[in-house]
Amino acid sequence: MESSLINAEQKSELKHALAGFLVENEPLAPKTAFKTGGSAAIYLQPKNLSELVLAVKTLTWLELKFLVMGGGSNLLVADAGINDKAVISLARGFKGYEIVGSDSDSVMIRAGSGVRLAALIQLSLIGGYSGWENLAGIPGTLGGALAMNAGAHGATIYDYVSAVRVLRGTELIWLTRAELKPVYRNGGLAGQDIVVAAYFHLPRTTSREVTARVVEIKQQRRQRLPPGRHAGSVFKNPAGDFAARLLDKAGCKGLRSGGAQVSEQHANVIVVEKDATTRDITDLMAEMRDRVEQSFGIVLEPEIRMF
Ligand SMILES: Cc1cc2nc3c(=O)[nH]c(=O)nc-3n(C[C@H](O)[C@H](O)[C@H](O)COP(=O)(O)OP(=O)(O)OC[C@H]3O[C@@H](n4cnc5c(N)ncnc54)[C@H](O)[C@@H]3O)c2cc1C
Repeated sequence: MESSLINAEQKSELKHALAGFLVENEPLAPKTAFKTGGSAAIYLQPKNLSELVLAVKTLTWLELKFLVMGGGSNLLVADAGINDKAVISLARGFKGYEIVGSDSDSVMIRAGSGVRLAALIQLSLIGGYSGWENLAGIPGTLGGALAMNAGAHGATIYDYVSAVRVLRGTELIWLTRAELKPVYRNGGLAGQDIVVAAYFHLPRTTSREVTARVVEIKQQRRQRLPPGRHAGSVFKNPAGDFAARLLDKAGCKGLRSGGAQVSEQHANVIVVEKDATTRDITDLMAEMRDRVEQSFGIVLEPEIRMF
């Protein structure tokens, strides 16, 4: 069911309550990997937990839904923009990280959800903390990585998680990996859960070892992924197979829709030109999905989150 647009009265209440960190009609394209799509009618950038809780309370009181945005590296925003819910960005605040415990074998790290994964990998590289090497090169924030259960080369962000701090409704709770039950590209968060921070327990090794592995992984990624503007894999791998293999066999490489084209190098990646629209991308995805379904009877599920 389509939800209704945020009305003038709700906007006025929001502007009154959340004045310090609310922006109206904020363009979202520059904040996403594809750089397509319209504006957010209501865009909130809470700097800290109190502002985030205030935002969620106000939205709940006004019976409005929201979408949480991290680094926008896995988001596809509709060309018409997001007008029926507020967008809450955690990429500006929630950026702190620190080592909160340490012994001769391991360290405990606390990180806010707005921290870039790249910053955490840099920390582990300098300190010689093992566990995140295989995630090197994945763009976005920690919150997005936990929501998506981001992973690569057989590792995922949940491998070394001790606990995740989540705002659920207006209650702050701790959740363990066992409670979240992350599965492939889904961190197991409930509906409107917001990740605010997480604790990780990483074994110690040497800076030299972590650096060598990170360099190797980044090089492999450069060889595997095409250059240009894209958002990594658009479809999830179906059980026991690879979406890229199926898409390649179904003749998708090079397919084009407006300013969007399936990469000739990687059949599960859509590369976009400057003038591409979200519609170009979604039309192309529909064609890719149809071809795979017709050829193999498998319905691919998008990895990209569409709003
Ligand atoms: C070039 C490129 C390569 C990529 N390679 C990989 C790869 O190898 N492996 C991989 O797994 N992914 C890959 N991705 C996809 C993407 O980088 C990951 O999914 C990333 O973890 C998303 O983080 P983000 O902060 O950008 O999230 P966003 O794109 O902003 O959001 C993604 C989802 O997470 C939710 N979310 C974001 N923050 C929070 C929060 N704090 N609380 C609750 N929900 C939240 C959003 O609502 C949305 O549903 C790639 C993307 C690009 C552009």
